[in-house]
Amino acid sequence: MSTSSYTSRALRLALWVASIAVPFALFAFAYSFVGFLHPQSIHLHDYSIPGAFVEVGGHILFGLLVAVPFLDLRLLLLSGSFAVLVDSDHILGALNLPVASRPDHSIVFILASSVFVYALSRRARLDRQTSAKVVTLAPAALLSHLSYDVLAAVGIFGGAGYAFPLLAPYSFAPITMPAYSWVVFELLGVSLTSATAYVLWMRRERGAAPLKAGARSSGNTGRRWGEKRPMPGGPE
Ligand SMILES: [Zn+2]
Repeated sequence: MSTSSYTSRALRLALWVASIAVPFALFAFAYSFVGFLHPQSIHLHDYSIPGAFVEVGGHILFGLLVAVPFLDLRLLLLSGSFAVLVDSDHILGALNLPVASRPDHSIVFILASSVFVYALSRRARLDRQTSAKVVTLAPAALLSHLSYDVLAAVGIFGGAGYAFPLLAPYSFAPITMPAYSWVVFELLGVSLTSATAYVLWMRRERGAAPLKAGARSSGNTGRRWGEKRPMPGGPE
């Protein structure tokens, strides 16, 4: 592959990921305004540069892991992006505004962001298979985020667990997760993507759900997102 061809593929890949990840980040930040319902003063960790790398790198890695069952580089990168960008709910607190801590680390946000990502996939006219995978990544990546938050709290900051306002905005009371829960959260995320990958594989095998955008054999070369367009490092 020529350098220019590789570059254009990499650029297309980055644009595809950004076209979903950026609206997701904006949604996550917008949702964090529910934190004003429960004003409090927030103490944020002071990260060193290496500490920030460990924090961000860990979230990306855990996000990538839950997307592995999809075997698609685009979705790996998207999952890593989701897993980091949920922390945009730190921004208001970092600006010393009186907001609740981490309102996006909650069940309602996981559900709301899944619906938002579904709406995004509809708007982008992704084919059904890609849409199902992208929508599954929202809860899976967020579970991976909670997983690494717990692991980092226990393994790096020496805590016994980690507390999330899981029931926000109904209750902003932090609910402490035990140290071992990082395994549970990550496994739940992997289970979600594995289940979706399996169901899609079964449907494809049975031919029960022909792809909306045209099967691979149709030779459809349309420009819709999620078409089976070759991507570097991914089978799709
Ligand atoms: Zn977090």
